[in-house]
Amino acid sequence: MSQSLLSTQHLLGIKYITKEDIELILKTATEFKEVINRPIKKVPSLRDITIANVFFENSTRTRISFELAEKRLSADIINFSASSSSVSKGETLLDTVNNILAMKVDMIVMRHPAPGAHHFLAKHIDANIVNAGDGTHEHPTQALLDVYSMIEKLGSVEGKNIVIVGDILHSRVALSNIFCLKKLGANVMVCGPATLIPKHISSLGVIVEHNVRRALEWCDVANVLRIQLERQDVRYIPSLREYALYFGINRHLLDSLNKEIIIMHPGPINRGVEITSDVADSRQSVILDQVENGVAVRMAVLYLLASARN
Ligand code: ASP
Repeated sequence: MSQSLLSTQHLLGIKYITKEDIELILKTATEFKEVINRPIKKVPSLRDITIANVFFENSTRTRISFELAEKRLSADIINFSASSSSVSKGETLLDTVNNILAMKVDMIVMRHPAPGAHHFLAKHIDANIVNAGDGTHEHPTQALLDVYSMIEKLGSVEGKNIVIVGDILHSRVALSNIFCLKKLGANVMVCGPATLIPKHISSLGVIVEHNVRRALEWCDVANVLRIQLERQDVRYIPSLREYALYFGINRHLLDSLNKEIIIMHPGPINRGVEITSDVADSRQSVILDQVENGVAVRMAVLYLLASARN
């Protein structure tokens, strides 16, 4: 019999869930994708559940996607962002969240700049915690929606060649993707300038490549990441222009390959830097599918965590 509940109470990172958990989330997401494409896009599944979206770091796509997922599941929602909160008045994370919990919140979807903040909370409070991004560490729902989008195109990722191109060092998307893809049996490569690739990354079982053409020739899918300028206190690359010249994905480069690969990007896109507009908007790109799938995948995660509460 296949698994019907997650092995965990929280989604803290892909590192901490099993292959079976991932498969269950992806399968459930397929059911919710069908729901969000119906004329009536809402189901009553989380009618008695209250969710707080707590964002200590900027977010557009992820916050909206979670909020929409929660609304489609009929949950009650509280939105909270650090800039408009008492955090700026010196309150601790635990005090802030305990105050929210005193209002009888069942689940917390949190983005926080500190890796480990979610683990800390999970130890101290009773609600289900969903990591919506913790600094440069993990962004589990992004990896799940990326993998869902790959499977939608390829049937499976097992044995497929996936390259993650760009700023691997500062990207939580990269790390969560690596964990997720490896658990599902994909071959994973990272490609970027040596300064933006962590030294010991090959210990995670990934191939390291610094030549973008060779990486694209090898892969079935290229997941393209932006340079995380907001996380760089020193200069890791001489200039964005030079980065675009050596690592940017453009039409000319794709046309010179002898096959058609799938292009992905978690957003936000810096057009003309890591990817040109003619690639981002092309038939090969599944960037908007990723956004649509994000809602279905987040519905699946919230639904499965809520199911285990009773
Ligand atoms: N939206 C993704 C994240 O929050 C990717 C990015 O910001 O570049 O990590």
